[in-house]
Parts: sequence; C-alpha cells; structure tokens
Amino acid sequence: MSLQITTIDLGIVNCYLIACDKEFFLIDSGFALRRKALEGALRAAGCQPGGLRLALITHGDLDHTGNCAYLQEHYGAKIAMHSGDAGMAERGDMGVGRRPEGMRKLVFKLSPFLLAFRSFSPDILLNDGDDLSAYGLDARVYHLPGHSSGSIGILTGEGDLFCGDLLYGSPNPSLHFIVDQPAQAHASLARLRTLNVRTVYPGHGGPFAFEEFLENYTPPQTGG
Ligand SMILES: [Zn+2]
Repeated sequence: MSLQITTIDLGIVNCYLIACDKEFFLIDSGFALRRKALEGALRAAGCQPGGLRLALITHGDLDHTGNCAYLQEHYGAKIAMHSGDAGMAERGDMGVGRRPEGMRKLVFKLSPFLLAFRSFSPDILLNDGDDLSAYGLDARVYHLPGHSSGSIGILTGEGDLFCGDLLYGSPNPSLHFIVDQPAQAHASLARLRTLNVRTVYPGHGGPFAFEEFLENYTPPQTGG
C-alpha cells in the first residue's frame, strides 16, 4: 500500500495531500484566503467533495486550520487534531494554552480577522500513539509539544513525518523560530530520534531528510 504525497504550497504555509488506495487524507488545511488554491490542488489530484476521508491537523494555528470549517461543510471531511489545541480552533484564538506577550499578543488578536478565520470543532480528537490504519492510512500519531501544547506529528509506515511547526523546512532545516515550550520541543525531538523518520514534511519551507536536520542540531545539555 504505497502512499502518494502531494505538496500543496499556499505561499506562506504548506498542506499535504496523501492519496492511498483511492482515499485522500489532507495534512493541515491552510488559510481561508488561499482556499481556491487548495481546492484547485484537491481537484487536480482527483479529490472531490465527499472524497476527503480525513483532514489531520498538526496544530491549532490559524494558518493551518483556516479551511477546516469549509472542509467539514463542503467536503464532508472529518477534522482530526489533538485536544491540546482544540480550544484554538473553537475560539479562533492562537493564545489558548500559550502565554503570548507584546507584539505576539497583538498578532494573535488580529489573526482571525486578517486570515478571515471561521471557528470549528474537531470531529476526532487524536492521542499519542493512535494508529491511523483504522481510517485506512498506514501512519501513527505522535504528540510532539513544543511549538504548541497540542502539536502532533503524523509518521507514515514509510518514514514520512508531517511535523507541523516543530521544525522549519529547507533550505535551512531548523527548529521552528516560534517555540512556546523549548524543553518540550527538544524532548519531542529526542523522541523522534528513536523513531524511523526519514523525510520531514514541514508546515513551512520545503521537505528535507531528517538526517540533514540532525547534522546541524545540538540538543541542549541537561543535568551536570
Ligand atoms: Zn505555521
């Protein structure tokens, strides 16, 4: 059962469409202002309304969740995400579960308006270790907090990791510059190192080999 991955580049953020056995799974949904581009990419891949099995949301930031309400209504898609970020989706507030200050607080306040965000409730709450083969996708859910408390990674059986905003993409793969809980982000990375991660598909920037990231990554020293 091989998976076909299509990158949907929406300019400031990526979504990914996975085709598997005539079923479609979307990773993240982008933002409403680029909905036409998203729909065009779905259509081009042969994914029509009614044909999207699941939208798996890596975290609650509004540039990733902006088309979820639309996908529920027009595609009949079930939206799956971690409970830690569900409040962001329900309230349209990226500050839920975080402690934004200064400029960031202002950006969070304005984002729902600037991005024309519509709130929604997830249909499925994902947990660490969930096996997505129950939905027809050979992949597993890993809770990877750091960028936000409800961030998850989706790791396929072939070693493709959809990491959301834990890592930033090529040309310079790195830890994302927004990290709410640095210690948790590094713990999430330590966990990823124990798994079979080959190619990383980030929320922003291009895909890269996990090895390439690790070559330039120094875990923080702990203890003494
Ligand atoms: Zn993002």
